[in-house]
Amino acid sequence: MLSLRLRKTIVLALVGGVIFLANLVLITAWLVQSGVISWAQTFREEFLTGTAITILAALMILLVSPGRSEAMGSNCPVCDRSQRGGRYCKHCGSTRA
Ligand SMILES: [Zn+2]
Repeated sequence: MLSLRLRKTIVLALVGGVIFLANLVLITAWLVQSGVISWAQTFREEFLTGTAITILAALMILLVSPGRSEAMGSNCPVCDRSQRGGRYCKHCGSTRA
């Protein structure tokens, strides 16, 4: 059997959920009315083409790679073998970077 407090909580949660959903619709309608969504769609069509996304991805890789290559493509200082995936060396077990 559900206790009275639990039932009250469920009712409050349901009411809160309905209010939240109603406000969600209102917020979406407000965004459409204020032109934010049409602006975002125009922005996506104008700037986020396939070429632009490719260039952005390439830039991200280029920007991220210097720090990563240092950690991933370095040689072990103990046995001087290629060391991948952090400080641990699988050849000699060294944890020095
Ligand atoms: Zn090593």
